[in-house]
Amino acid sequence: MGTRGQTAGCKNDSPSALAEQQLCVLHFTLSLESGCAEMRRETALGNTGHERQREIMRFITENGEKLARVATSGLHLTDDLKARILSTFLTLMNLRENLDRASMRSSYGRHTVPR
Ligand SMILES: [Zn+2]
Repeated sequence: MGTRGQTAGCKNDSPSALAEQQLCVLHFTLSLESGCAEMRRETALGNTGHERQREIMRFITENGEKLARVATSGLHLTDDLKARILSTFLTLMNLRENLDRASMRSSYGRHTVPR
């Protein structure tokens, strides 16, 4: 776990759907996984502000769309990579669910002061 060198030593090409990230499919899913793990830890604490929650939601939808584009762009993906893409989708979906639960919890008691 943790952050791996995203492009160090990687010889895979970055598909056009990921041109902005400059990552290959494998490293894109790895960076998403570690990003999600971090945000999940953050939301588990239950004190994520609304602004931050919106940010995380944006992260989920934007990267989910990117991942879908990569997955359906006709690249030749190995079965391993396909499985990895699916499990990354699942990670994004679970994070989204966590976020909903966290925001439900926070609307019961504590309110974050809007700035
Ligand atoms: Zn790579």
